[in-house]
Amino acid sequence: MALLVIMVSSVLDANEEALSKMYDLANQSVTQRAKAQHLEDINQTLVLASEDQHLAALGNILKASYYIFQEDFIKAQQFLIKAKPSVDLIQSEKLSNEYQFAEIFILRSSSDIDGAMVIGESLYKKVIESWPKHKLSHLVLELAYVKSFKYKYDEALQLMEKAMDYAYESDDPFQIAETYNMFGILYSELNDETSANRYYQKAVEVLERNPGLSTNTYLYTNLADSYRVLKNYDEALKYLNKSEELAAADKDDAAMSFAFQMRGRLLSEQKKYAEALKYLLQSEELIGQIGEDLFRYEIHSEISYAYLKLDQVDKAEKHLAIAEKHAGKQGETDKYFIENIRALLLYKKEQYKESYDALAESYDNYVKQFNDDLTRVSNLAREELEEAQLNFDNKLLAKENELNAKNAEESQRYNVMLWVLVVLLVLSILVLFWFMYRFRKLAIKNRKLALTDNLTRMPNRRYIFRKLDDYHNQSEKGKFSYSVIIFDLDHFKAINDRFGHNIGDKVIQATKDICQIILRDTDTIGRIGGEEFLILLPETTVDDAYKIAERIREQFEGYDFESLAAGLKVTSSFGVTEYTDEDQNLDFVINRADRLLYKAKHDGRNKVFANIVQS
Ligand code: GH3
Ligand code: MG
Ligand code: MG
Repeated sequence: MALLVIMVSSVLDANEEALSKMYDLANQSVTQRAKAQHLEDINQTLVLASEDQHLAALGNILKASYYIFQEDFIKAQQFLIKAKPSVDLIQSEKLSNEYQFAEIFILRSSSDIDGAMVIGESLYKKVIESWPKHKLSHLVLELAYVKSFKYKYDEALQLMEKAMDYAYESDDPFQIAETYNMFGILYSELNDETSANRYYQKAVEVLERNPGLSTNTYLYTNLADSYRVLKNYDEALKYLNKSEELAAADKDDAAMSFAFQMRGRLLSEQKKYAEALKYLLQSEELIGQIGEDLFRYEIHSEISYAYLKLDQVDKAEKHLAIAEKHAGKQGETDKYFIENIRALLLYKKEQYKESYDALAESYDNYVKQFNDDLTRVSNLAREELEEAQLNFDNKLLAKENELNAKNAEESQRYNVMLWVLVVLLVLSILVLFWFMYRFRKLAIKNRKLALTDNLTRMPNRRYIFRKLDDYHNQSEKGKFSYSVIIFDLDHFKAINDRFGHNIGDKVIQATKDICQIILRDTDTIGRIGGEEFLILLPETTVDDAYKIAERIREQFEGYDFESLAAGLKVTSSFGVTEYTDEDQNLDFVINRADRLLYKAKHDGRNKVFANIVQS
């Protein structure tokens, strides 16, 4: 039983985790949600809890959204239909919010503007606190777009204030570009194409500043069409070429169809009807494949008009009928344009009376349309509109400055960090050098210490034998000769015993001074035992060395040891020898000097014994 509970609860945990993952996907940015990877992520998350109805429904909704972003409304709708029964059954507000979000776009694309508006307004109220800013930005922009179809421009502009805040707060360049684009659409509909053009340009700028964004080809197309309205056909063509290029690269049928429609419109305006027709028909075919209804009225009336201009009355009539079928679905439409085409059509068919009536009807509709436009614009009085625009511009500028300041602050921070790093690096290098310097000094000192005698500060046994070894090696090559004096203080044990160790030490130290008076700079003296010393005399014959040793011996005799201790007298015995060619190694020389010293001791001490060269 307990096991069952654990199993059930762990299954529940797994489901919950999968669901929270799926909701995370729902909160991704549009840029992420339009990527193929997003679809893969949805499928992978679905596998985690394949039996869970809530998860499956949300998965289908997100897939629908994915296809909405691809502008494949037929596929999008299929997924939404799949999700619907579960959404009704589960009654989770979070789930139904996601469903409605996708539904708005489907309704709008199928020309149900009223439906889209009702759902959009109620959804916005529900999610205003809980949804991330970029998603709120997306929703609000869509709502403003839908309102514009209903000519509710003041409401749309109010929503744009929100849209702008959300876009900048989310810091999502896609949403910022979309916000500028929506401003463009609104000002274009308010017949202020110059402002519209400026906003479209800003949208394109954002797009081009952020190469990571999926290419929003329609932004270029909107800009192109805006240039057409302003009669700047060169710029219009430039951007149309760009949109078609991008749409082709992305294999984006929706974008391509839109660009073709706008190219057809441009060609038509330039009275190149045959060419215009080519593009309009291609556009219409692509629109059919996508399942977008909203612009069918527009495209079929444009096709009809082009056929008429080319005197193909039958075809013109056929497309006019389709245009009429789609017109009016979204409420008020430009009926005068349709009646105008019909008048032209009837005229070509030589039905002059009917043509006149249609023209009159077109005129009535034109007046009505004109009055409607006037009402719309006067509802938003010119000054008010300009004020709104100024307000938006100031706000946009403030937002941009804010963003720039934030960036500047950030780069300043990085600058400071960089400097701190540089300073740290320099400091560590300095410390490293300091340590190296200290170690080197220490090493030199240690080496010196290792070769120096502690008591007398003169070279020690190791040093003097190393030097001796050098001399010996050079001598063996015949370049050099040297002599050696070894001496040992006499009866030192007795001195220690009588005067104390301390005085004994002082005597050993005095030895250095005694020898230094006699020795040359090139000579080297070292302490090789307790009170035993070795003197190295380069380029010195044994006769000269003998004389030097004799003088040292005399120096000992004459030295004022009384000042160290009353009654203290110190003498020393010496062995002196010179290197000869027969000396196979160093030991021969040292042993000979040692033996001579021994002899001196044996002979009563305070003597110098040398093996003077026998010629
Ligand atoms: P000899 O004339 O035959 O050399 O007699 P000696 O007493 O000097 O005999 P030997 O050389 O054998 O003895 C050396 C003594 O020197 C032994 C030791 O106690 C003493 N000695 C060795 N090193 C030091 C030292 O650094 N300081 C002091 N005060 N005494 C030392
Ligand atoms: Mg001695
Ligand atoms: Mg000795």
